[in-house]
Amino acid sequence: MQVKPSVRGLKPYQPGKTPEQVREELGLERVVKLASNENPYGASPEVAKAVTESLVNVAVYPDGAARALRKETASRLGVQDNQLLFGNGSDEVILILCRAVLEHGDNIVTAWPTFPQYRHNAVIEGAEVKEVPLQEGFHDLQAMASEVDSRTKIVFVCNPNNPSGTHTGADEFRAFMKQIPEDVIVVSDEAYKEYVDTDDYPDTLSMIDEYPNLLVLRTFSKAYGIASLRVGYGVGNVELIAAVEPGREPFNTNSAAQAGALAALKDVQFLDRCVSSNSAEKRKFEQFCEENGFHYYPSQANFILMSVDLPGGDVFDHLQRNGFIVRNGEALGFPRHVRITFGRPEDNDRIQEELLALRQEEAGVD
Ligand SMILES: *Cc1c(COP(=O)(O)O)cnc(C)c1O
Repeated sequence: MQVKPSVRGLKPYQPGKTPEQVREELGLERVVKLASNENPYGASPEVAKAVTESLVNVAVYPDGAARALRKETASRLGVQDNQLLFGNGSDEVILILCRAVLEHGDNIVTAWPTFPQYRHNAVIEGAEVKEVPLQEGFHDLQAMASEVDSRTKIVFVCNPNNPSGTHTGADEFRAFMKQIPEDVIVVSDEAYKEYVDTDDYPDTLSMIDEYPNLLVLRTFSKAYGIASLRVGYGVGNVELIAAVEPGREPFNTNSAAQAGALAALKDVQFLDRCVSSNSAEKRKFEQFCEENGFHYYPSQANFILMSVDLPGGDVFDHLQRNGFIVRNGEALGFPRHVRITFGRPEDNDRIQEELLALRQEEAGVD
């Protein structure tokens, strides 16, 4: 069998265990998954209604242009319809972009650690990946700009960054855009944008006219709570979107997903409630870390990367035995941290108790 050299040796995405699996294997009554930054409140009830209604049409191909969703999204963002590119999740927008833009010999610039799909898709297209280490958990845009060379096609800025939760400020991002040549695409991946509660966050949509090389990524998977339906999109200059569009499959977002995303978009109250709960829980979690001397990175997302100063795997195991699935930092480039998605208040309280119990246990052993 012959696969492309660039694909040889690549590992497929390793999904974590589902709550059901963990429940069965460990004989637990209740398992809470706080590992994938999903919305602990689910989705707006309007989503299930819209998806159900869409099912009468399963025999018919979806609207390949996602017209209804496109119109509503564009009007809410204040952009034109043809400035949007919808994907089967924003993951797919990354894939479409890499497929359309990169060839062997090109390179991309990203931070490290960051969202792994930039690297994964670039490698498949035969491109080199220039990774610039985070500084104290934050993007080092200066260093990233200086890595750009004549073969650089895309720079990925994950803002807020997954897995550190940190954000890049407005002035810093603006100064960065000024330095990047206009034939290099800058992606601002804003998967957690709805959760951002600082004033110092770039208003990237307002920069698209000035920077036709800027592509903003958003998703319905996180704050809107419809990760399983798979809808995300890119927003950019009309020419940029049109140039990349041929890399998209004709029916990449399905009818249920389009209907669900449209309903999610319209239920502003649901979104607001989720976002305020997240902000409150974040403050509580950060305070918990401070009071107990646990290192953490300041988060602008719906998760926290924190350390109880033990190997991430030990913390992961302890939490899993007690009914919580989190992300082990060892797989994320932070070997003594875990990444925990903020859950419902009662679950956050319980997981904090478990972290304290683990520290007690360790202190007792020593
Ligand atoms: C979750 C996530 C996405 C992808 O979400 P989709 O479900 O594919 O829309 C993109 N970027 C980052 C940084 C993420 O954390």
